[in-house]
Amino acid sequence: MGAGGVIPPPATYFDKIQAVVKKYDILFIADEVICAFGRLGTMYGCDKYNIKPDLVSVAKALSSAYMPIGAVMVSPEVSDVIHSQSSKLGTFSHGFTYSGHPVACAVAIEALKIYKERNILDHVNRIAPKFQDGVKAYGELA
Ligand SMILES: *Cc1c(COP(=O)(O)O)cnc(C)c1O
Repeated sequence: MGAGGVIPPPATYFDKIQAVVKKYDILFIADEVICAFGRLGTMYGCDKYNIKPDLVSVAKALSSAYMPIGAVMVSPEVSDVIHSQSSKLGTFSHGFTYSGHPVACAVAIEALKIYKERNILDHVNRIAPKFQDGVKAYGELA
């Protein structure tokens, strides 16, 4: 949760949440707008916490914030439902005003390429402990 200070949850938090949503057949939507693309030292926050979401929202670092773009990724199960209903209607019934904007998509593709070329995950994992220590030191001043 960004507004709350991006504080990591207790170790068993997502295991417990996933058990509950699975039990009641509730879709798990992971908001990865902050955490995706290396922020936590893994490509997605879901990788770090072993989360198996049904839908994932991403934005910000998708283009390294150089271009406004967001995306929603869906599991095969969710995608199958959308496709089967779309076949009945004759069209893929969804839309956003700027869906698939070529400039934003080109910037996003390049950003993802640069993350890979520069091995951003290794970099994050190398500097994260120092960064966290620095942030904690500021916290102690408050
Ligand atoms: C910034 C942010 C959003 C909002 O994203 P928009 O692309 O502005 O809609 C949603 N969730 C999280 C976790 C965010 O950090």
